[in-house]
Amino acid sequence: MFKRILIANRGEIAVRVFRACRELDIEPVVVYSQADVNALHVQLAERAYCIGPARSADSYLNVDAILTVAKATGCDAIHPGYGFLSENDEFADACAQAGIAFIGPSGDVIRAMGNKAAARKLMMSAGVPVVPGSDGAVETAEQAKELADSIGYPVLIKASAGGGGRGMRRVFEPDQLIPLFEEARSESVACFGSGEMYLEKLILNPRHIEFQIMADQQGNVIQLGDRDCSIQRRNQKLIEESPSKALTPELRERMGAAAVAAAKAAHYVNAGTIEFVLDPDGNFYFIEMNTRIQVEHPVTELVTGMDLVREQIRIAAGLPLSRTQEEVVQKGHAIECRINAEDPAHNFQPCPGKIDFVHLPGGYGVRVDTGLYSGYTLPPYYDSLMAKLIVFAPTRLEAIRRMRRALEELVIEGPANNTDLLHQIMHHPDFVRGNYTTGYLEANMDTLLSWSRVGEEEAKA
Ligand code: ADP
Repeated sequence: MFKRILIANRGEIAVRVFRACRELDIEPVVVYSQADVNALHVQLAERAYCIGPARSADSYLNVDAILTVAKATGCDAIHPGYGFLSENDEFADACAQAGIAFIGPSGDVIRAMGNKAAARKLMMSAGVPVVPGSDGAVETAEQAKELADSIGYPVLIKASAGGGGRGMRRVFEPDQLIPLFEEARSESVACFGSGEMYLEKLILNPRHIEFQIMADQQGNVIQLGDRDCSIQRRNQKLIEESPSKALTPELRERMGAAAVAAAKAAHYVNAGTIEFVLDPDGNFYFIEMNTRIQVEHPVTELVTGMDLVREQIRIAAGLPLSRTQEEVVQKGHAIECRINAEDPAHNFQPCPGKIDFVHLPGGYGVRVDTGLYSGYTLPPYYDSLMAKLIVFAPTRLEAIRRMRRALEELVIEGPANNTDLLHQIMHHPDFVRGNYTTGYLEANMDTLLSWSRVGEEEAKA
């Protein structure tokens, strides 16, 4: 087992990995930017090193600085968390060259899955269903137009290097294809430095269902069940739950088997996620593979009882999976709400700033993963995630009730945040019935916000 792990991340995930290291008797070494001097992961750690200025490019994406700290402190492994360098193939290669274990798949696997058009192709050859669309990348807007005309509208233009919903455009009308293609391509060049695009049929009213995968260096691959991540704003997840209400046991079995086949086709090692869209008729299609631990991993931990970060570390150290597929059982129900410093009434605009006071909920079946504390100032340079509130209960309805009361206990004084919106969703009939798709939030935003306003008026009266 490793002696010392460098955690190349910040925020709640740095704290999450720190805890896993401590529990495994591994010494955690943390790094931070000048904007994160007061961050919780820095305060918890005995060994913390500043790696540069606030801008991510100068600190959390600074490969040289991170490797220098890792070598100087004698770390034998690096955990990249999610975001930042977690899906950077060159970083994974650089770790390998330095003789430091990268806790994740190899650079080659990250490269293969990181190009989404190429990943699509690989999945097609492995017999995993993909959304009808281009056979790999499309070169020009004219080619895209020709293809879209033959697939039929609506279509979705996507960036091969895309992420976080950027470089993506929906096209409903043929005459919109070329201008939207150019728009998506410029956005992709600006965000990801690549203008490689591909095309998919736009699945109407889908659910976003993903499967957690774990694979060891011995070639064993298991899946740890599904997560429903359909509650999204601007193609970004807000609430996740496991298991999904949309799956029958038979469909879950088939999707799980497809996820394992996908991971095997990619020669996958470590934790990964196979994302699918599920159409209203029960057809599912691969959309992408994420080659890292996900933000929403705790819901899977709670329903399977398996510590995924611990498992990641064990796998990187060469140990075999701690469970066989037969030993993985999804039990009970878990829901995660992302508590973000953002204003839902103003297009989810980020609202960093000082947390004057915070009270975190607790009690039976409640877990909070966070880097917050009273007096902490959220820097404006990074994402707006403040905390993940996760609940576990025997049934879905009990989990919803538990989430309602946990959200009621949560107090955050300071920046605007989305706690009220999450609470409204927990009371909304379609959510309670489990009757929602990826269009849910956009379709119901006005109703949900008007409920918040009624609450505010009542409070003032
Ligand atoms: P990103 O990496 O930007 O998150 P994804 O490929 O994961 O991109 O897509 C983000 C979201 O867009 C998905 O969660 C899903 O809601 C939606 N989406 C992706 N592909 C399709 C599709 N072909 N049809 C309908 N919705 C889609």
